[in-house]
Amino acid sequence: MRIRILLTLVCVVPLAAAAPATRNIILVTADGLRWQEVFHGIDPLLARERSAGMEKAEERRRKYERPNQQQQREALMPFFWKTIAPQAAVFSNVKVTNAFRVSYPGYNEILTGHSDDVRIHGNLAVRNPNETVLEFLKRKLRLSKSQVALFASWETFRAIGEHTEGSISINAGYQTIDFPNASPRMLDLSLMQFHLLTPWDEARHDFITGALALEYLKTIQPRVLEISFDETDDWAHDHRYDRVLDAIAEFDGFLERLWTAVQSMPQYRGRTTLIVTSDHGRGSTVAEWSDHGRAIEGADRVWLAIVGPDTPPGLDSDPGVEQRDIAPTIVRLMGLKVSDFQGVTGKPIAGALSKGLQ
Ligand SMILES: [Zn+2]
Repeated sequence: MRIRILLTLVCVVPLAAAAPATRNIILVTADGLRWQEVFHGIDPLLARERSAGMEKAEERRRKYERPNQQQQREALMPFFWKTIAPQAAVFSNVKVTNAFRVSYPGYNEILTGHSDDVRIHGNLAVRNPNETVLEFLKRKLRLSKSQVALFASWETFRAIGEHTEGSISINAGYQTIDFPNASPRMLDLSLMQFHLLTPWDEARHDFITGALALEYLKTIQPRVLEISFDETDDWAHDHRYDRVLDAIAEFDGFLERLWTAVQSMPQYRGRTTLIVTSDHGRGSTVAEWSDHGRAIEGADRVWLAIVGPDTPPGLDSDPGVEQRDIAPTIVRLMGLKVSDFQGVTGKPIAGALSKGLQ
């Protein structure tokens, strides 16, 4: 009996001690970017839609249409498919478990590891009642406020990102940069945002959000960074498929700038896990592609890519992945215990973790 206990201990201890190589987490989201565009490129059905902005449909087709699916998705997202995907765990069918399939419930699910359908059922900017994984990492790893940052185009992230106001560094929507260590470039971008307006009151241009986040990465070097883009969703709601396509291409360009920066800094190279995903899907027909929500078929399907030193590459290696699994996966990648993060109902994604971390 005694021998058996001893053996159990010997076996369990090394497993529990397996430490991830990941030291930094970067989470990037593109609002309502459909899996259809990510995996297939330009949608032939939508490219022929007659609506605002589609006078240039011919031009967009020339720009993004290719003879086969692989070439076509690479035409829209060249960096994602040629550089990120071959090294990443990529999931094409991630299930949204919240009932609403709109943004705040989706981001809450991503950031807290569970859906909270009673308290988060729409996009009203109410303070998140749940501790987010950003706050959890800050607390458990004893990071300073500047080491955990969130840049978002949509202003509601001021409420989504933290359940204790002021606990992490957030800059979201049209908002002046007021960080103590802001570089001159950050202050320039901060000023510019108010002179380059989008058609939407609640969301600034993704370019500003991305450029601010990249500058923050280079100058402040946070351990935890979320960057959340918006235009893929808002242009879709406006039935501007032409602009959706261009916003996706911009998003891909951002991923290239981000990944290049990560590879150029010893602080990040080989020690950073990048997670890229979306908050909800959308419809798949000409009538419904622009929309999402509980009544829209397919709005509960999103995609996900994870790339970093602890993640084996593969496509759909773990078929039952859900949106609420992202936060517990982040917790494992940062070497912490999922059971310490309150309220989580998701589970770490086995296909995104090396054997010792599963
Ligand atoms: Zn939307």
